[in-house]
Amino acid sequence: MSTDSAFKLNDIKLRPHRIFGGIKPPAFKSSSMRSRIMPSPIPERLILSLRQHQGSAALPLVNVGDMVLKYQLIAAADQESALNLHAPTSGKIVAIESALIPSQLQQSEMCIHLQPDNKDNAIALNEISDYRAKTNADLVALVKQAGICGLGGAGYPTANKLKASIDIEAELLIINAAECEPYITADEALLREFAKEVVSGAEILQKICLASRCIIAIEKNKKEAVSALAAALNNSSISLVQLPAKYPAGGEKQIVQGVTGLEVPSGGYPPDIGVLVQNVGTAYAVHQAIVEGKPCISRITTLTGAPLQTPKNFSVLIGTPVSFLFEVCGIEEEQLTGAIVGGSIMGVELADLQAPVVKTTNCLIAKSTQEFPEAGKEQACIRCGFCADVCPAKLLPQQLYAYARSCNRDELESHGLFDCIECGACAYVCPSNIPLVQYYRASKQSFAKQLKQEEKSLYWQSRFQTHQYRLKKNQEDKLSQRKTKKNQAEV
Ligand code: SF4
Ligand code: SF4
Repeated sequence: MSTDSAFKLNDIKLRPHRIFGGIKPPAFKSSSMRSRIMPSPIPERLILSLRQHQGSAALPLVNVGDMVLKYQLIAAADQESALNLHAPTSGKIVAIESALIPSQLQQSEMCIHLQPDNKDNAIALNEISDYRAKTNADLVALVKQAGICGLGGAGYPTANKLKASIDIEAELLIINAAECEPYITADEALLREFAKEVVSGAEILQKICLASRCIIAIEKNKKEAVSALAAALNNSSISLVQLPAKYPAGGEKQIVQGVTGLEVPSGGYPPDIGVLVQNVGTAYAVHQAIVEGKPCISRITTLTGAPLQTPKNFSVLIGTPVSFLFEVCGIEEEQLTGAIVGGSIMGVELADLQAPVVKTTNCLIAKSTQEFPEAGKEQACIRCGFCADVCPAKLLPQQLYAYARSCNRDELESHGLFDCIECGACAYVCPSNIPLVQYYRASKQSFAKQLKQEEKSLYWQSRFQTHQYRLKKNQEDKLSQRKTKKNQAEV
């Protein structure tokens, strides 16, 4: 990258730097870290959403009644932002119909329903003994084929992110292991047991994106994961940066600042300053796809919360219903008041426990009144400014709140609504119990709707104008033809 920022980036010593704002909430991580990662049993039905992330839906390649094998491609990414979908086990397709999936919008999506035959018969896998002999384009194609997306939660298709970073010639690859949100331990558990595989995945990612430097960034309080990584990094050119434990140190822009001291510009992304960020879970999935030939059919998900008798991290088959996982952990029904997908700060309430795990489901919290008492009544803003002190994006959350309430789109935009990463630090410290993030999300959604309507109305306006132009042109043509005929008749 030949910009000033890349020049600066090359000169920078990668070490812990201060990030703006942030909070230090209790971690609530120890209960799910007591045992090793356990493969989750196969449920009676897997519900496989054609849309596993925020992009487009995949195109189903199977019909009801078809028998499929483990790892078989069952829905194809026919659009750039879609993800390939593979059968997590062998069995019969029993329905293709909509079902609720965990997401911020709590929407239903078209899903392939697979009834496992409990034989787990698989297609042959193409393992690659020496990935270095492959071209980068081949490796990107394999990542795309495996249906991998960012497993840290955002879910952007990894192949697209890699292509973009090749185009901008990224200088630095950061593997993000700063799992800073309370309750979530999926990445920490993964590193404790599969650090070698994560490092292998990071090396593949570095080869593909051509970055000259690669580091793994982790919070220093994750001691076992840090020692496992340190051992796995022996003889590797990849280094380790240990960050102070603070929320949201693992945000994409925050991790860049935490490691380089550089700020990603407002409205921009890390690649704008020559940095590519990938999650550790994604690096592991890339290792599995390239070295072992396995597509993304499972992920590590934390199952936690007081109503669970044995909280733990599961290696879960994509499509497994949440209720099934709660049962496997042993559930105290009388304590259970609901479920959260994600951590306790950024996570969203799950409307239906039958909803399945998707590729971005990093944590499932069984809620109880004891751990999640009802939120206090929302009061008026007292302009204490606590929210501004903790905002990692240097925004003025109280101003955004006021503009969100008055639906002032111009002011919301000029006050950086779209730079808000919805981390919830502001709401966490607000003494008036204002659910600030809900206001910001609602504003963003309403803008997105408005934008769509504006685009639609512009489209129809332009169609109408084209139609009017054609009518006028036809009329003029007819008049001119008549004139010509008349002139010819007179001659
Ligand atoms: S923390 Fe809450 S009460 Fe205080 S200024 Fe921010 S929004 Fe207002
Ligand atoms: S949710 Fe948005 S406004 Fe609130 S602290 Fe996080 S980035 Fe700042």
